[in-house]
Amino acid sequence: MTKPFQCTQCGQCCHDLNIPLTAKESIDWISGGNQVKVLVEAIPWSEETLQVNELLNRKKQITFASLSGSLSIRVQVTFLGYFLGACPNLDAQLNCRIYEDRPLTCRIYPFEMNPHIALEPNNKLCPDEAWSLPKTTTRSIHQVPLQISIIDAETDQHIQTLFTQNTTDLAVKELLCLSLGISTASLSNDGYLFHHVNQNELRSQLQSLLSNTLNTTQKRGIQDWLIVSQNNSTRSDLTQIGGRTAALSELTSQEEYLHFQ
Ligand code: SF4
Ligand code: SF4
Repeated sequence: MTKPFQCTQCGQCCHDLNIPLTAKESIDWISGGNQVKVLVEAIPWSEETLQVNELLNRKKQITFASLSGSLSIRVQVTFLGYFLGACPNLDAQLNCRIYEDRPLTCRIYPFEMNPHIALEPNNKLCPDEAWSLPKTTTRSIHQVPLQISIIDAETDQHIQTLFTQNTTDLAVKELLCLSLGISTASLSNDGYLFHHVNQNELRSQLQSLLSNTLNTTQKRGIQDWLIVSQNNSTRSDLTQIGGRTAALSELTSQEEYLHFQ
């Protein structure tokens, strides 16, 4: 049977990336001479929302509970391997030098990491010949969400493994922020706040926290986050519901902010 998607190894998806990595993959990425930055996002949180939203239920499992002032939030920490231009692991023949050990995110593309998001082939970098479906196909085939209808078992397993790893990395992420003094976050869906930290320190903290998993699950991280936004009105809204906020002028040189348009 013809597969609905077959990678042509064109290398298009290996350029200009922020690749989400697990804690273990981050250690390997830095050890390979590459760079990792830390994205931190805050989500104002009310337990009632969970009862009506399956997407947020999944989000809860990959975030940790905390506070900004008196506002209840959940914090999502994402390690990102990043580069401009070609990936440092891509050779001149467009082959991945670390193919057998490449990150889970690389194994999953062009499929979505979140199974609640439908695949849109037209938004992917893969050439037409990679798809046996028309590339303009959107959202569903016969009312079945497209990703569910065409995903292969191996990729599906990678998605589940990445999700499980993200849940088990939670305690490490919470304590890593504490040990590196990271206490600022962007507001989810408003912008991205990236933290650039010393790479040797990041790697050694991750190694130490991962080797002490039993102890880390019993400790708490920062309990008063500062939420950064470019918009005066967003900061004012957050302050009114008890949050603590900061403007871009208060960021340090290790913090990089990207506002959503
Ligand atoms: S690690 Fe390999 S598969 Fe992933 S972006 Fe780099 S070259 Fe591509
Ligand atoms: S862009 Fe698509 S077809 Fe090309 S290497 Fe990446 S996954 Fe494969």
